Amino acid sequence: MRDLKHMIFFENLLQEANNDLVKQARGEGKRALGYTCYFMPEVLLDLPGCFSVRLRAPRSGSPDMATYYMSNRTCHYGRALLERALEGGFHFLDANLATETCTVTCRFQEHLERMGVIQNPVFFSTFTDVPFKKNENSMVHYRKQLQAHVLDPLREKLGVDTSDEALLAAIEEHNEVCRLITEIGEYRKLPNPPVTGYEFHVIQLVTLTCPKYLILPYLRETAEELKTREPDAKPPFRCRVVLAGAENDDPAFTALVESCGALVVADRYCYGSLPGREEIVVPEGQRPLDAVARHYLQTSCCPRFMPQEQMRERKKYLADLVRAYHADGLIVASNKFCEYWSYERTMDALILPRDYGIPTCSIEKEYVNASTGQLRTRFQAFVESVEIKKLQEAK
Ligand code: SF4
Ligand code: SF4
Repeated sequence: MRDLKHMIFFENLLQEANNDLVKQARGEGKRALGYTCYFMPEVLLDLPGCFSVRLRAPRSGSPDMATYYMSNRTCHYGRALLERALEGGFHFLDANLATETCTVTCRFQEHLERMGVIQNPVFFSTFTDVPFKKNENSMVHYRKQLQAHVLDPLREKLGVDTSDEALLAAIEEHNEVCRLITEIGEYRKLPNPPVTGYEFHVIQLVTLTCPKYLILPYLRETAEELKTREPDAKPPFRCRVVLAGAENDDPAFTALVESCGALVVADRYCYGSLPGREEIVVPEGQRPLDAVARHYLQTSCCPRFMPQEQMRERKKYLADLVRAYHADGLIVASNKFCEYWSYERTMDALILPRDYGIPTCSIEKEYVNASTGQLRTRFQAFVESVEIKKLQEAK
């Protein structure tokens, strides 16, 4: 396929957390607000005068200093973030809006706060408690938490306009990003999509890590370009897969799967678009903050929600994605030492083949993929097994 016009630009933006668009927005006087988890609604951090940056640690090596503080029994993602912070990679942040969602990111965020790692005089950090259930009480609790630990500190410490009008404007901008990503993602349902899983992963990531108002023009142009992009007549893929799991902000991982012959057609992982790029609807008579709290709690597919029916809903959601995107199988990947996802991955590997007949490849990986050779062998074997299944079904 002809290269997408902005792909190299997008790839370059992912080389640093403090990328060119982040620098430009800060140069224009905007405040950079870091966060790590889906439960911190990015739209609240994209209010006028500030912008959200979902934290990544691209090009990470061995997180030696962070391992000293966090131990080697914590997930590599959290340690890589702390290592990057200790190296000075997050000094551009004006605040970090933390969530009490998993112990690893809590530890990372506590270190940011207590060790004075961020050399920025205005820097502050707050913690938002996130409920473990999706009932009405949880909604009220979550909304109050977002008011007390996000909107109030942004207004008091950084002078951000947190009025309903400002929030509605942020939701409108956020929804345009969602519409464009959804439009691009819909092509992935086609038999021969004009966008690869790798390209989609890169495009989705830049929307999470760059100021929305600066990335939107490039996103609009890319969506327009895709309307007429011709896919290769004979693409090099032997099957289609949905990729699911924990934090995955490494497009090289998607590229690795695709280099083994499996086209990634849907992204059900943290940092992906399913969920994440559904428009936020503010019903008549509801306050925007209410709508935001409901939206994030209801759309989340995080394994923190442990009631049986929610666990089962997540399996059904995965199976529905496999069907909607005409996938032949599922790859579910968790980060080593992640408690939530190691249970979830194990259940996915059992339930998806048994109850839905979906071939499932379950792997545990590091944040940075040192064991590429082993993973390649696993993916190649999985692609072959899916091919054999398809041949047997065709008989
Ligand atoms: S898996 Fe859950 S707790 Fe972890 S970052 Fe994602 S949404 Fe947050
Ligand atoms: S991979 Fe698991 S342990 Fe690591 S930050 Fe995400 S939810 Fe927490």
